Amino acid sequence: MKFPKEKKLYCKKCKKHVKHKLKEFKAAAKRTMAAGNRRHERNTDHGYMGKYKYVVFVKKQNKNPTFVAECTECKQKIPYSLGKRMKKVAQQ
Ligand SMILES: [Zn+2]
Repeated sequence: MKFPKEKKLYCKKCKKHVKHKLKEFKAAAKRTMAAGNRRHERNTDHGYMGKYKYVVFVKKQNKNPTFVAECTECKQKIPYSLGKRMKKVAQQ
């Protein structure tokens, strides 16, 4: 699906509709030494991954694209997503 680079959205800080720049959201790098991550690795790398029986893991083919919308006036950032899975994402 094609997405625009700019879109008019409501800004909570400015309290009006303002042009927002849309950028694709990228998750930050995982902290490999964090306690929760170490625990997760410990549980998922051994045996039946905490389950009684081995379950076949099927990966979903399409992703739910999320964007970061930045207000052009106050630089406030808000997440923007359609909440639908799609194969291709292109910004114009
Ligand atoms: Zn704003």
